[in-house]
Amino acid sequence: TVNQPGVGVPDALSLNQINKSFGSFNALNDINLNVKKGEFVCLLGPSGCGKTTLLRIIAGLESANAGQIVMLGRDVTLQPAAKRDYGIVFQSYALFPNLTVAENIAYGLKGRSQDKQTRVRDLLALIGLSGIETKFPGQLSGGQQQRVALARALATSPGLLLLDEPLSALDARVREHLRREIRALQQRLGITTIMVTHDQEEALTMADRIVVMNHGHIEQIGTPDDIYAMPQSRFVAEFVGRANWLAGEVQPHGTVRIGDTQLWVNKLPPLLEGRTVTLFIRPEAVVLHAHWQGGENTMLAHLGGVESLGGFCRVSLIVPAMNNLTLIADVSRTELATLNLQAGQRVPVSLPPHALRVFTD
Ligand code: ATP
Repeated sequence: TVNQPGVGVPDALSLNQINKSFGSFNALNDINLNVKKGEFVCLLGPSGCGKTTLLRIIAGLESANAGQIVMLGRDVTLQPAAKRDYGIVFQSYALFPNLTVAENIAYGLKGRSQDKQTRVRDLLALIGLSGIETKFPGQLSGGQQQRVALARALATSPGLLLLDEPLSALDARVREHLRREIRALQQRLGITTIMVTHDQEEALTMADRIVVMNHGHIEQIGTPDDIYAMPQSRFVAEFVGRANWLAGEVQPHGTVRIGDTQLWVNKLPPLLEGRTVTLFIRPEAVVLHAHWQGGENTMLAHLGGVESLGGFCRVSLIVPAMNNLTLIADVSRTELATLNLQAGQRVPVSLPPHALRVFTD
């Protein structure tokens, strides 16, 4: 086992049984998380779920009531913030307004002024803002200020980068651009990063792994693909991406009945016969056909409406054989053109068995 990759290398961060309450309110319950070196992990969840509190506990800006924090094999649970090896970027730019860009970036650096100058120049080159050393934060755009804040956080080459909603104060275009830049920079430096966000798209596009949080506990930890395709709870399925929900009853032969329709489902858990379950399918997994060909899980639907969402279209369909349930299907423009749909038309629709997931809660 000695040659196994990763064996003997301590995790960049381990959180063991972290609990935190504010008075009688439990903000965090039994949080366990291991982050590997070089990983980009997003803490994702709705407002108030505890993600910022967790980041602040990692940073030592808040103390936990119970639990242990280990950074690169070193127990830092009782260490103050200054003794923990990380850089942090907050939502608001948090640069010193009366200091120049260079002074802001060099703030935490020790050593000779010439070395500091060189380091600042390298960092500015790294974030694509060479030559702005003497400017003041007020002379920069929001996106530029956040890049400077990032340079400042990276100045001492910390072992861990903590990002607390760093993009949420920026407008959509800048935000998307910076997402890619931060991710590329993180991968180039190989720096372990933990980012708090409530934006599912941000988490899906940037993270190696996502930690979905709800009411102070972890709902699921997984890669973006896992979280999107294999949500383990209704909460995760609803919070990340769009979903169709279909309530039905499990039949003796292993199908699920909804109205007059029997749906085949892959991997129907055993012992569910007679129970009511909820099926879940992503809108892009719903298949529309130009002509009726029959087949598994195929039925006729009435075309409700078509909404254009730029790159794709969202089609709503009413299915008489499933108690007039409304299904949402996302299709590309090209596909829509091929289907040549007319208002009120009847459209054959398939729900592929492999794309249906069963929830029993
Ligand atoms: P947001 O995105 O809105 O910041 P969040 O998921 O980061 O949400 P936290 O800021 O971690 O949530 O807060 C979690 C819960 O703990 C919230 O209900 C909040 O009101 C509460 N809380 C946070 N800090 C304190 C505090 N210092 N005193 C009392 N309650 C607090």
